[in-house]
Amino acid sequence: MSEKKGLKNRGYSHADVDERREAVEKFSNTHLENISKYCFDSEKASKNIENMIGSTQIPLGFAGPITISGDYAQGDFIIPLATTEGALVASISRGMSVINASGGVRSKVFRDFMTRAPVFRVRDIAHSSEVIDWIHNNFELLAQTTKTTTTHGKLYSLEAYPNGRSLFLRLQYETGDAMGMNMATIATEAVSRVIEKETGAVMVSVSGNMCSDKKPAAINMIQGRGKTVVAEALIPKDIVIEKLHTDTETVVETNYRKNLVGSTMAVTFGANAHAANMVAALYIATGQDPAQVVGGSMTITTCENVDGDLYICVRMPSVEVGTVGGGTRLPCQSEALTIMGCLGDGGARKFSELVAATVLAGELSTLAAQAAGQLGKAHQELGR
Ligand code: NAP
Repeated sequence: MSEKKGLKNRGYSHADVDERREAVEKFSNTHLENISKYCFDSEKASKNIENMIGSTQIPLGFAGPITISGDYAQGDFIIPLATTEGALVASISRGMSVINASGGVRSKVFRDFMTRAPVFRVRDIAHSSEVIDWIHNNFELLAQTTKTTTTHGKLYSLEAYPNGRSLFLRLQYETGDAMGMNMATIATEAVSRVIEKETGAVMVSVSGNMCSDKKPAAINMIQGRGKTVVAEALIPKDIVIEKLHTDTETVVETNYRKNLVGSTMAVTFGANAHAANMVAALYIATGQDPAQVVGGSMTITTCENVDGDLYICVRMPSVEVGTVGGGTRLPCQSEALTIMGCLGDGGARKFSELVAATVLAGELSTLAAQAAGQLGKAHQELGR
């Protein structure tokens, strides 16, 4: 393989991909018949992957329609899901049909900021304090600096976390319909250069881990990262009995002992049955960054008995999604976003509400299956 086709290459042709794959076949003595099949433009995909040798396929199904009344998503939506876990799509579909029969999901986006947190080396805590003062007095200058790197990104706030000779800054950005991680990183580098020049602090890393990207983190659970979305539904007691084959009290107790007490015992970030399942299937289908399933996994699921009916709610503090940029550009992923009317400008908050609605349906179905003692049976019948 020539240097030209190595990691730094951008915009490689179909022939480049073939040549690279043949080299891998030769090296590994494996015929890659299936990996060689793909339908997208390798030149465009070169923005999403280096050293491309083909593609991998994941089965795509759908759940729904789900009826939702959100701030941004309103109406009935079919949800595309990419997974290899048998029984998952069936379970989400069952949850959606129960929720629809109960009047649908209500959802809200409560916060919407992407974060980047560089770490600086300072001389001592007095210097740290001086740097923080300078930053607070010059926020407008820093906000203007970000405008040289992005049109849609906007610096919203900056918080300082000093620790000895380390100074962490957590910058929050509005990022339009992009998930915003590249946008926030590029803008933060520009901001950090100004801070270095004006204060003598030295940026050690543009990502000092207080962001916190792709790692379960209390700071994201409390302050949010990406979109903080809450979705709820009220399932009448008769529907719980007829369609879920259990009753409100049993689901509430299952949620309490499993999701709340059990998660506390295990000290998980988040308290839910399997939120990551829905998030992963939806993120993979729509070209989100799959590593950010971590953020989605920090969901808290609550259930209450409201006059005999079952109130169920998911709070998702960290839904890091976009409907422009990143993997959303790829053709299958674009089509999946288009099914929901979420592709492109104006789609990101709407999509985040659909993520929460899908998680709510999956949580309801799985909790009810466990309350009714049916989880193993369902997997045995559908997944093996
Ligand atoms: P991006 O594709 O890098 O940037 C989004 C682009 O879309 C920008 O050029 C933006 O222009 C443009 N744009 C057009 N219409 C827009 C609209 N309505 N709203 C917002 N932007 C619009 O995407 P990103 O979301 O910033 O980054 C996502 C990628 O970052 C993913 O591939 C992810 O895997 C990767 N990632 C990067 C890091 C990192 O540290 N760099 C970390 C995690 C993940 P303007 O900027 O001019 O407004």
